[in-house]
Amino acid sequence: MAVAEKMNRFIEKSSWIRKMFEEGARLKKIHGEDKVFDFSLGNPNVPPPDIVAEKLLELIRKKDPGLHAYMPNAGHFSTRSAMSAYFCREFCVSMAQDQIVVTCGAAGGLNIIFKALLDPGEEVLCPAPYFVEYNFYVDNHGGVLKSVPARRPDFDLDLEAMEREIGPRTKIVLINSPNNPTGQVYPEETIARLGKILEAKSTQFGHVIYLVSDEPYRKIVYDNCCVPCIFTHYANSLITSSYSKDLSLPGERIGFVALGPAAEDGPKIIDALTLANRILGFVNAPSLMQRLVEELQGVCVDVSIYKAKRDRLVQALSGFGYELTVPRGAFYLFPKSPLPDDLEFIRLLHEENILCVPGSGFGGPGYIRIAYCVHDATIEGALPGFERAIKRCGNM
Ligand code: PLP
Repeated sequence: MAVAEKMNRFIEKSSWIRKMFEEGARLKKIHGEDKVFDFSLGNPNVPPPDIVAEKLLELIRKKDPGLHAYMPNAGHFSTRSAMSAYFCREFCVSMAQDQIVVTCGAAGGLNIIFKALLDPGEEVLCPAPYFVEYNFYVDNHGGVLKSVPARRPDFDLDLEAMEREIGPRTKIVLINSPNNPTGQVYPEETIARLGKILEAKSTQFGHVIYLVSDEPYRKIVYDNCCVPCIFTHYANSLITSSYSKDLSLPGERIGFVALGPAAEDGPKIIDALTLANRILGFVNAPSLMQRLVEELQGVCVDVSIYKAKRDRLVQALSGFGYELTVPRGAFYLFPKSPLPDDLEFIRLLHEENILCVPGSGFGGPGYIRIAYCVHDATIEGALPGFERAIKRCGNM
């Protein structure tokens, strides 16, 4: 066989994604792009703020001789300094530039964290539902992903269940807030309690259990919601984030990992993260993008645009009878599927030319994910179809 057996299995496992794309392409071909309402992808539709293009032009015109050269694998010194200064301002934690590694997005960040921390067979525990790529990222580095269902209906962490599931092989607890696919943000109190559990479990098992927080949606929050900083609640923690969503630059592959200032063996962990950046073949994050985000710390797309879309969908779908918890961040809604089988309901939505993702794909069966980072016309055009689809469920 040409392709490795494991990759064949992975291709098979992720084939529902391909099937969804194929179905979307088929429907668009028959009905035309504007008659198909695509809520399947988390690709921000809001353009980057104007200052992004202005700064890019400025940078290119400057003709800095080092702009396109190799650099230290952890990133430009000046970029890391700007990022750590922002961290200090934003979270009131003392953070030095050498506690930051610049990465190819949050995806690159997660991969270097797993490469740096996991020995073969060690476990990463995360709440379900979760971002589907975690399975592959953890496997890339010989780890095993285990999940624990989040609480219903608010999708907060089920701390008692997590505590039960942490065992001698657990090396990392991975959280994602604001969450994809649920849009929920874990409250400060939950993070504080999780920190205490991890301290006790690390002592019990005689090794550090790391807390990793995946935060590419950190700035996309609503209703004065604030994402707590894990560093103030647990020493041995790492944050990875990116500029994919808050600057709408997902194709440019730029993000970072920040190590908690009080983490044990800090310099060793940073060395391992830096080497992982190099030997995984990223080498370093794209240079031009590093220079760009260096100057745009704290800048964000206009979040009120996403909020208006969230509010419109929440109001309309609730009115039609969909059960949902109002998400406090990201740009996803995760309503209960009106049919017990979410795949069957997704097929019903296809008949209305609406594309969403089944919760089963995220380890959250019985729900559907609606990515509302789309044009308002897509939302308005889809609403009658969402209404007809739930009404049909009543007649089945
Ligand atoms: N983590 C989560 C939860 C995501 O939703 C995504 C992208 O959608 C990523 C990580 C990867 O983000 P990036 O583009 O920064 O690599």
